[in-house]
Parts: sequence; C-alpha cells; structure tokens
Amino acid sequence: MKSKKLKPEIIKKIVKDNITGIDAVEIIPLINLGSALKGTISCLKQGLIPASYSYSKEKTESAYSYKNYKSWAKSIIVAAKYYYTDEKFPEEKAFGRIARFTWRNNYRYLSLKLKDAVNKISDNTGIPIISKILSNYTSIPEKALCKYSGIADFGKNSVLINRSMGSYFTVGEAFIDLDIDFDEIKELEAPDYTLCGSCNLCRAACPTHAIIKNGVININRCFQYISENLILMPLKYREKWGNRLYGCSICIDVCPYNKNLVPWAKKHNIGFVGQGMDLLEVLSLKQEEWDRTFTDNQIVIRDPGAILKNAITSLGYLEYKKSIDFLFPFLNHEHEIIRAYTAWAIGKINTKTGKKMLYSRYKEEKSQMVKAEIECFL
Ligand code: SF4
Ligand code: SF4
Repeated sequence: MKSKKLKPEIIKKIVKDNITGIDAVEIIPLINLGSALKGTISCLKQGLIPASYSYSKEKTESAYSYKNYKSWAKSIIVAAKYYYTDEKFPEEKAFGRIARFTWRNNYRYLSLKLKDAVNKISDNTGIPIISKILSNYTSIPEKALCKYSGIADFGKNSVLINRSMGSYFTVGEAFIDLDIDFDEIKELEAPDYTLCGSCNLCRAACPTHAIIKNGVININRCFQYISENLILMPLKYREKWGNRLYGCSICIDVCPYNKNLVPWAKKHNIGFVGQGMDLLEVLSLKQEEWDRTFTDNQIVIRDPGAILKNAITSLGYLEYKKSIDFLFPFLNHEHEIIRAYTAWAIGKINTKTGKKMLYSRYKEEKSQMVKAEIECFL
C-alpha cells in the first residue's frame, strides 16, 4: 500500500477540508538542512547559545540529519496556528505580563490538531500512517522547515513572518511515512531578509541589543531566555526589565507585519493562563497553586524560582512601594540569587523601612553576591 505516491495537494486538501484550527499547512520532503546547520554551529562557536541548552556540535548535527526519524519518515507536514486574539493586557500597576505566545499552550493545541490531521489523511487515503508530531520542544530547526514550506520567511529578529498572520503563529510538524510525489526538491536557501528590506525596527527596539546581526540572537542576553532561568542579570538589563512575568516579544510587537492584524485567532483553553498575574500574588504562590495555575501551560517546565525572580525584578523596576512588606521575607530566601534580586528591588523602591531591612540583612548575609547588591543602597 505504501508504494502508492500521493500528490502534496491531495494531502493539503484533506487537512484543509477536515481540520479546523490549522491555519496554514504544507507538505515537504526531508530536506537537506545543511545551511541551517551551518548557522547554528556558527552560533555555538561564538558562544551565543547558553551552556544550559546542552547543545553540542554532535547533538546538533544528529538532530539536523533527522537521526531519530530518517529510517522511516518520508515526508513532513508543516503546519501553523495563528494566535493573535483581541485580548488585552490589564492596566493595573502591579501586573506582571506574560508574553502573548504563552497566554495559552498553542504548541499542544497544534500537536493535537496535527494528530487529527494524520488520522484524517489515513482515513481518507486508506493508508495506515506512522507519524511523529513535534511542536517547539525539539532540536530540529522548525523555522527552517517552515521557511522551506513557503508558509513564512525569516525576519531580522530570527522570527518567522507570514503575510497574513504576521509573526503571531506557532509552528508544528508531523513526520510521516507517507510517500509523496513532490514535483521538485529544492535546496533550503539561507535567510535573505527580503521581507524586511531596510527596516531595522526590531533590532533598534531590543532592550538588551540581543539581535547582534540580522537573524542572529545572543540568547544569553535575550529577555526571553533570562525570564526562563534563575540567573543573575546585569543591573543595566534590570533597568529595562519592565513588568515582565514571563517572556519577551518586543522584537515581534514592533514589527510592521504585526501591526493592523485582524485578531481572528481561535481562543482555546489548553494551558490558558491569560495575560499575566498580579505580581504580589506571584510572591505568595504555593506549590499547589503553581501547579494549578501553570499545568498544561509551557511555563510549568520552568524553574518556579525563575518566575519568582521575574516578579521581584518587576516590582523593583516599577518601584512599587506597597510591595515592601511582601518582599521582605525573600531577603531570607534559601537561594542567594533570589536574595540578591530582592535586595536590589527593595533598594530600588527606596523607602526608610526598606533601608532598615537591607541594613539588618547585610549584617547576617554570608553571600558576597547578595552583599554586593545591598552595598549599592547603603
Ligand atoms: S525577545 Fe526581547 S530581548 Fe530577546 S531579542 Fe527579542 S526584543 Fe530582544
Ligand atoms: S521589525 Fe522590520 S527588520 Fe524586524 S523583522 Fe520586522 S520587518 Fe524585519
């Protein structure tokens, strides 16, 4: 049965006619990812990918050569889900923002839709299909596959752009063992940023200048990465932190392709956490509330300490005086990085009570890192 070759248009039509919630779909061969590999290896060599990602040349080469799939997979369904809705950030002062792409779990939503799509293709063609569905949590360069598919192209911020969805869409793939009769198999072209032209808005707007050249991000200083990890960020970045609770999307939000979009994206409840949380509420989150709030959302895989540090940094940035008493217990937190951020936030809020707190903590503090933070304010 599997020897029968199908045209890509037939597969696309089955998906389009039967699956709602997939907003763009293409089917491609397992293309040579050599040019994408070159770019990633170059970033690795330059130290632009943090060590915590545990990327290595060998691991990257293995992923980019489809090591886990090439023995059986013959083609890839590439799909996109638009997520731009009419929901807005609240105006409250002590509100911690979650970046738009994390308001709900669009990766899981799209994965479920791709599973439905594969089942439907199998039903309609009468061919049993082996598949592996991916969305986001993979070392395979999904953006390169999406570019090849023609659904989108790269912007200078290294984010994909589609003419009708802007950059507000999630990508997913289904590797399948279905023989497809592709008209031609082209080379994957390196990004040329044609869509951007002379625009540089994203690079100019990035608060940490993390977009070091067109399409190249120094992830170590990207607020998205910093928001996901419990790491100490330099003071100059904290001064630009804003009220982030999780994620950063400034380089997406400023892009002209994301202006004037129609918010027609389907709202769904998979992993829905909304636009953010009251920052003081975050400070008092117990483990069971954390699990209840973030289960099914991608934030759940992050260190709760990273989110706590984001909330503390936001309160410091906002100089939110009412938070002083809430912050105080965190000066005694077991993790020195949390104590360091708390000291900074209390110092930044600059009240007499805060100064007394810092002074008394300073006398007991053993960590040089925390002492250094307190010294800035004594
Ligand atoms: S996500 Fe934020 S910090 Fe990262 S590159 Fe974009 S604007 Fe810069
Ligand atoms: S902001 Fe401008 S340069 Fe950046 S991705 Fe969008 S169009 Fe390209």
